[in-house]
Amino acid sequence: MQLHIEQKRLELKHVWRIARGATDHKEYWFVRLEHEGITGYGEAAHNERYGETPDSIRAFLEQARPLLQEADPLHFLPLKEAIHSLAPGQDAAKAALDLALMDWVGKKLGVPVYTLFGLAPKTCPSSSYSIGIDEAEVLREKVREAQDFPVFKIKLGGDRDEETMRTLREVTQKTVRVDANEGWTDRQLALEKIEWLATLGVEFVEQPMPAGRLDDLAWLRERSPLPLVADEDVKTAADIPALSRAYDGINIKLMKSGGLQEAARMITLARTLGLKIMLGCMVESSLGISAAAQLAPLTDWIDLDGNLLVRNDPFDGARARAGVIMPPPGAGLGATPRF
Ligand code: MG
Repeated sequence: MQLHIEQKRLELKHVWRIARGATDHKEYWFVRLEHEGITGYGEAAHNERYGETPDSIRAFLEQARPLLQEADPLHFLPLKEAIHSLAPGQDAAKAALDLALMDWVGKKLGVPVYTLFGLAPKTCPSSSYSIGIDEAEVLREKVREAQDFPVFKIKLGGDRDEETMRTLREVTQKTVRVDANEGWTDRQLALEKIEWLATLGVEFVEQPMPAGRLDDLAWLRERSPLPLVADEDVKTAADIPALSRAYDGINIKLMKSGGLQEAARMITLARTLGLKIMLGCMVESSLGISAAAQLAPLTDWIDLDGNLLVRNDPFDGARARAGVIMPPPGAGLGATPRF
């Protein structure tokens, strides 16, 4: 297989602000794997939270290049293991290669990737629409823009939590999921926040406290009136066994797991341990979202709206409309480049 890599700048419709910081664009590496006249596409939506930068992603892709040149893409399981063994971390780069690989295999066999996983596309839960930390007027405008979505996911964890929830409840009574992005550092404070949120029609709380504080999270879970979902605390399957005492569910993202194959393994393991499954995303193009949508039928909660935030999406593919998202019907990941 020949590996081609190219950087693209994704412009965002709004400044995207969470507890950790704010941005108005993303600069990601995209990959193409070419073999026997078939092209598989992949995307590395890297995240500095996990020690990833454009340079580190490129370095990992170059490290994988000799392996890919020799490999038969139809042997995608051992190839995925070999790619993951090259270096620790850099999961967005691993995801780019896994997406391209599975896209190639699906196209070669003439089937959508969900078929390779034995799934039927019609049983996907609804997707939420995410709203970042914003001034009241921007928040109201975003709720209006997403008025056909049945569920919102709101970012808290800063010093404006009360104002944000008050503004949100003034404009919508829909179900709300809260993502604190590790923002509450004291467990008693986290409990008080969650008890308050339970009175406001919140469905669950994602990553209330900083990752790694599992004793505090287990304490919180015993007392919490709402389910707790791990996000920053979980990347790959290896993280999951330790989490089952501290959380009710996990948020799986392809860019954290290193791709579809690892995400499918995580879903199996998490189910075995009695955890609920949320499928989320980073800010991504419709390529990454189309990939995640392939596994949507296996999940309880979906948050696949990252491409809706992008103004110059380089791909056509899966798009959540009124909260409904389906994997595209074409072979492979079903996403088509616009370049
Ligand atoms: Mg999150």
